[in-house]
Amino acid sequence: MSNQLPQPVVNIGMVGHVDHGKSTLTKALTGKKTDIHSEEIKRGISIKLGYADTPVYVCENGEKVYSNKPVNENCKLERVISFVDAPGHETLMATMLSGSSIMDGALLVIAANEKCPQPQTREHLTALEIMGIKNIIIIQNKIDLVTRERALENFREIKNFVKGSVAENAPIIPVSAYHNKNIDKVFEAIEEYIPTPKKRKDLDPIMYVARSFDINKPGLMPSELKGGVLGGSLVQGTLKIGDEIEIAPGIQQTKGNKNVWENIFSEVSSLMAGSSSYNEIIPGGLSAVGTYLDPFLTKNDSLTGRILGKAGKVPAVATFIVAESHLLNRVVGFDEEMKVEPIKTRESVMLTFGTSNTIGMISNAKENEIEIMLRYPVAVQQDERISIGRRIANRWRLIGYGSVKS
Ligand code: GDP
Repeated sequence: MSNQLPQPVVNIGMVGHVDHGKSTLTKALTGKKTDIHSEEIKRGISIKLGYADTPVYVCENGEKVYSNKPVNENCKLERVISFVDAPGHETLMATMLSGSSIMDGALLVIAANEKCPQPQTREHLTALEIMGIKNIIIIQNKIDLVTRERALENFREIKNFVKGSVAENAPIIPVSAYHNKNIDKVFEAIEEYIPTPKKRKDLDPIMYVARSFDINKPGLMPSELKGGVLGGSLVQGTLKIGDEIEIAPGIQQTKGNKNVWENIFSEVSSLMAGSSSYNEIIPGGLSAVGTYLDPFLTKNDSLTGRILGKAGKVPAVATFIVAESHLLNRVVGFDEEMKVEPIKTRESVMLTFGTSNTIGMISNAKENEIEIMLRYPVAVQQDERISIGRRIANRWRLIGYGSVKS
């Protein structure tokens, strides 16, 4: 195996208001553009995430300098990190939430030349809070466009905005992503504030499937055909070539006059992370798992939103769940204050589980507990965090969150 670099070990979300510089910062940090994974909405599920990996080196030159390249002879590779870029467009809040299920920390990008907070700055911070992401670094970007006075005023706006939130004590790093200024300080803060999560390698493997493919080109001989490939993020455990795997929920089958969902079983035939092949993959970054499945089953992202694990070790599949629920004080995504009305029986909601977004109907609503009939089944773990969206003014808006009870 010709692996130039180790696999990424931590996923860092790039979040913030549209045009505040997330893509530019990702490019400054990694030297690459994020590779956008775009999908159609299928079975009520969509995911559009970009990502880019980079090594982080620490180089001694009298003082420590952090960089994505060895800049002198005294450089040590710290680790490889992966950026997940959540699109800033407000209709894609569901994507931001599903993306945050694979983030170990986040960079909240705030442009210094606009008043803080802008609507998605607020939305994304709420999403990080709801999804339990505590390791946050605030990037005060576009510092080249403002005077010193405005930069200080913006700094105060940011401090005021994050007061009382999960980001209250987050470091604030002034940068110009466009001019590559202070990027070393961003790496330094990442090394200090976003540690590699520990222990998760010892758990049973769980991969959130974000994409699925048929990688065969037309015209191949049957003997040359490769099995279906699943792309996504391993959030815990390790996967090895030869592992027996199960995908939940699987596919819908007709049995007699009934439609039933059956999990799919196969074996890992190959593993890729970035553009390198591995015998084993660990949590961090996005990976691709080759299988012996009929590629017809995996083509065109038909298995997006599923969970892949070891055979017999995947979470249970459900179409009816009971969840503890908490409502936010105000609807996320409006400039003006809009109070969240209680959830009502028979209303439709959008729920995010892992990387899947699924529509459901409330069959019973109590003050802090809801029962939901899902339009499509999902594989869920007990106590899993979910977010709850309601359709207001033609868009799904985040109104609350909860955890799965049964
Ligand atoms: P995103 O929507 O958050 O991904 O924002 P982009 O990275 O696409 O940036 C939006 C615009 O702001 C682009 O035209 C960038 O060139 C510009 N931009 C981003 N960062 C900076 C910066 O530090 N300084 C200046 N002057 N422009 C920037």
